Amino acid sequence: MRAIRVHETGGADQLRVDDIPAPEPAAGELRFRVEAIGVNFIDTYKRSGLYPVPLPHTLGQEAAGVVTALGAGVSGFRVGERVGSTAVQGAYAEEAIVPAAQTVKVPGHVSSELAAAVLLQGMTAHYLACDTWPLKPGESALVHAGAGGVGLLLIQIAKMRGARVLATVGSDEKAELARRAGADAVCVYTREDFTAAARAFTSGRGVDVVYDGVGRSTFEGSLNSLRPRGLLATFGNASGAVPPFNPLLLSQKGSLYLTRPTLQAYIATPDELRSRAQDLFSWITQGRLHVRIGAKFPLAGAADAHRALEGRATTGKVLLEPAA
Ligand code: NDP
Repeated sequence: MRAIRVHETGGADQLRVDDIPAPEPAAGELRFRVEAIGVNFIDTYKRSGLYPVPLPHTLGQEAAGVVTALGAGVSGFRVGERVGSTAVQGAYAEEAIVPAAQTVKVPGHVSSELAAAVLLQGMTAHYLACDTWPLKPGESALVHAGAGGVGLLLIQIAKMRGARVLATVGSDEKAELARRAGADAVCVYTREDFTAAARAFTSGRGVDVVYDGVGRSTFEGSLNSLRPRGLLATFGNASGAVPPFNPLLLSQKGSLYLTRPTLQAYIATPDELRSRAQDLFSWITQGRLHVRIGAKFPLAGAADAHRALEGRATTGKVLLEPAA
C-alpha cells in the first residue's frame, strides 16, 4: 500500500510516498481501509521534529474508513463497518491501524469525509468550550485563528453555549468566515492590536477566557486580554512553541489561570470519547454545526497540504484523499 512517511525530520519536502506492506492489527487493534484523512497541525510538528517520533514514521492520526481486519480480543466492531478515530497509527496511508478503544463508529448519515473533517478539531473545540472553561451564557471568549479548523468549530460551539465571541484572523477573507460562523466581533490581528480589541469588546474589563492555538506570537497579548482570574488555554503552537516563562507574571496580571491542555486527556475513556463524538455527529445532523472543508489534496500531495497549512493559506479543514 502507499503511505506517506518521514525518514528524517525537517520541512514539507521530507514527506515521501513509500510502498509498504499493509499493517496487521495486534491484540486490541483494528485495521481499516482509509477513505478520508484529516490533516492537522500536529502532523507538521511530528514531521518537523518539534514533537519527536521514532523514524521512519507514517504520519497522520485522524481518518475514517471501513474495517478490514480485527485483532485478537476486539469486540463491538465488525469487518465492513465504518469507523473513525483521532488515534490512528499512520493515517496518511491506504490502510491503517488503530486501537479499538480509541475508535468510534461513524453513523450512516455522516460520510467518512465529514467524520475525518470533524473528529479531531471538533472534539478539541468541544472540550475547550465545554470542559476546560465551561462557557456560560453571557461570558466572553477570545478565539485565535478563528477561520482555522479548530477556530470555526470553536466559535460555533461557544455561540451554542451562549457566550460572546471575539475572533482573531489573518485576513479580511478569513474575517468573513469567522463572522459567518457566529463571531460577534472579529480582529484582523496581522494589522490591529488584538489586546485593545479584547478590552474594547468587554468595556475595558478583559475577556473571561482566551483559547490560543497560535502559541508563541500571541501568548503575551493573550494574557494581557484577560480579566482578573480569567483563563488562558494555550493549546497549540501554530506560530512556534511558547518559551519558558515566570509564573509571577500570572500574579502581576491579576491572578490569572493558565492551562496547556491536550485532546488525549479529554477523551481518555471510551465513554468520554463516544460522548464527544456523538455530540458532534448530532449537531451536524441537526444543522447546528457546520464543518467547512477548505481544501482537499490527493494522498501523494501531502507535502503541498503541509505547505498550505503552515503558510496560513487554509481555512477550515484540510483533507487528503487516499483514492485520488
Ligand atoms: P488551523 O487550521 O487553525 O491553522 C493554523 C492557523 O494558525 C493558521 O491558519 C493561521 O490563521 C494561524 N497562525 C497564526 N500564526 C501562524 C504562523 N506563524 N504560522 C502558521 N499559522 C499561523 O490549524 P488546526 O485547526 O489544525 O490547529 C489549530 C491549533 O490548535 C494548532 O496550534 C494545533 O496544534 C492546535 N491543536 C491542539 C489540540 C490540543 O488538544 N491541544 C488539538 C488540535 C489542534 P490566521 O492566518 O488567521 O492567523
